[in-house]
Amino acid sequence: MSLLVIKFGGTSVADIERIKQAAGKVAAEAKRGHKLVVVVSAMSGETDRLISLCRSVTPLYDLREYDAVVATGEQITSGLMAIALQQRGLRARSWQGWQIPMVSDTAHSKARLLRIEADKLRARLEDGEVAVLAGFQGVTEDGRISTLGRGGSDTSAVALAAALNADRCDIYTDVDGVYTTDPRLVSQARKLSRITYEEMLEMASMGAKVLQTRSVEMAMKHKIKVQVLSTFENGIGSDYPGTLLTDEVNMEENLVTGITYARDEAKISVIGLKDTPGVEADLFGPLSDANINVDMIVMNVADPAGLADITFTVPRGDVSRVIETLKTHKDKLGYQNVLTDTEVAKVSVIGVGMRSHAGVATTMFRTLAARGINIQAISTSEIKISVLIAQEYAELAVRALHAAYGMEKG
Ligand code: ASP
Ligand code: MG
Repeated sequence: MSLLVIKFGGTSVADIERIKQAAGKVAAEAKRGHKLVVVVSAMSGETDRLISLCRSVTPLYDLREYDAVVATGEQITSGLMAIALQQRGLRARSWQGWQIPMVSDTAHSKARLLRIEADKLRARLEDGEVAVLAGFQGVTEDGRISTLGRGGSDTSAVALAAALNADRCDIYTDVDGVYTTDPRLVSQARKLSRITYEEMLEMASMGAKVLQTRSVEMAMKHKIKVQVLSTFENGIGSDYPGTLLTDEVNMEENLVTGITYARDEAKISVIGLKDTPGVEADLFGPLSDANINVDMIVMNVADPAGLADITFTVPRGDVSRVIETLKTHKDKLGYQNVLTDTEVAKVSVIGVGMRSHAGVATTMFRTLAARGINIQAISTSEIKISVLIAQEYAELAVRALHAAYGMEKG
């Protein structure tokens, strides 16, 4: 007999019909004899609605009270799900975060879980009860309700799986798994049967918004088997229809596991800097003081006069703050000119196979060159290569690379 944590996202519990359908998946797992913890999100749109209620009182609302308001979305679904499970003849009981308790720090609206005191819950599970937990919720040491940030129910589910030493955590959502690339862009995109935590983290931080990043970090740390699967298809988690996150590398898989693209960065070029020791610190120090996240960095020193150009990327929304900051420090930096370009896209290839195989970058460069696509900046990590290109070529680049690495459907 296994212990499973089963999480349903907002679209999976969007209305009563869907809650009933989700309850059907839980009942099918119960029939196979598993002990079950169900974690639910708020019905889709509900958290947004609750946030806008807070805002309409005042945009400067108190975050403790924001948490008191937005946590109610999950409270409703936990009760409704328990009723739907009882309808199917299961013994089910709802739990709020404070009832477990899921103890968090006091960073209201984006709290981090500190510990889960799961003894009561464990006893009920042993007794054959299905526990239905309101996701997203925590409680501070001094007893106030907290929430774990947008998408936080994923983290609730993985944290519970870790605390209970569960055999698996199934995350039901509106996609049927993690794909090699965006299927809306590349019809040949293939669903991955498995992906490593590290690869998923790289995919998630670049726009493949399937799971909250924190939940993947937590799964990696505690080695929790997490499966992403669709609520809207037949089949249940125990038949493994989705994508499994593990730390086992599948040797059969391709060198490159995923290709992502992001259009939310802008390129800034600072032209004609003095090429002296410390100029980089003088440039990037004030940006980090202003809390601006710099991603790719390229530096050229070609000028015989000893001048340097530095190109870097920042989130598009930060461009005006970057320009302001550079202006403030112009005297010290002594640059000649600043150019900005928001018509760029970052395309990345990701795969743990890169660690042990050469040539992945060369294939990328050759493929883009063959399409006449110019690379404006490059950055790499152990398992990722990213290039910055003109935005108009993003789709072409993703398609060409997907084919070049042989990632199409078999
Ligand atoms: N309901 C919360 C949100 O929309 C938490 C979640 O769904 O994971 O962010
Ligand atoms: Mg979500």
